Amino acid sequence: MTKIEWMSVRLGTLAFNVTAFQMALPSNACAIIALAMDELQAIAAEVRACQRCALAASRKHAVPGEGPADAEIMLIGEGPGFHEDQQGRPFVGPSGQFLNELLASAGYRREQVFIANVVKCRPPGNRDPLPEEIAACDEYLERQIRAINPKVIVTLGRYSMAKFFSGAKISAIHGKARRVNGRVVVAMYHPAAALHQPALREAVEEDFRRLPEIIRQAAQEAEADPPSGAASGGEQLSLF
Ligand code: SF4
Repeated sequence: MTKIEWMSVRLGTLAFNVTAFQMALPSNACAIIALAMDELQAIAAEVRACQRCALAASRKHAVPGEGPADAEIMLIGEGPGFHEDQQGRPFVGPSGQFLNELLASAGYRREQVFIANVVKCRPPGNRDPLPEEIAACDEYLERQIRAINPKVIVTLGRYSMAKFFSGAKISAIHGKARRVNGRVVVAMYHPAAALHQPALREAVEEDFRRLPEIIRQAAQEAEADPPSGAASGGEQLSLF
């Protein structure tokens, strides 16, 4: 669903004339972004009160995610760690510092990207999130993706990669842009893992440096060949 279609549903006007609305752009672009902001705030409020899975019992703060509603890039990590749970914000510990450096190497500031996780509450002891926890939280992530409608989704680590590339090995697909359900998705190593393993660090640094080119190529391909759905496991973009 495009952002305009989503907006028409949100407005409760299923008979909304999308073509007429599109002709009114860009003057209504601000209204679309405002609606996306409203939706992101609504999601954040729901997440902070959420009791859908067992992680609610042990969290100090839920971590809905943060960033601009019109971000070109959406980063999706795994789940909050100790520092994130303390502050209620994503990627604020050492791996967050490294992530900021990686973004800077690609020419982006943290404030320009939206950062979220597959689970919004910290798994105790930083254990891996369980399948039922990921499933319970997925609706929030899906709504965030629809609201932001980013040009590129970057998954950080195995669990967010698995949402888009079932059964894939990160060592085989990292840094390669693929189109999944009409969206350009790139799997990358999690900064926390890369911090402690020199080989992974080199790989994730190289993948982030290529991000501007990936976005340029994705925009060109989308213009030349509008996405019409996804093959299982993702269709690799031809120029990457
Ligand atoms: S992890 Fe997600 S589903 Fe579970 S309690 Fe937190 S917000 Fe709700």
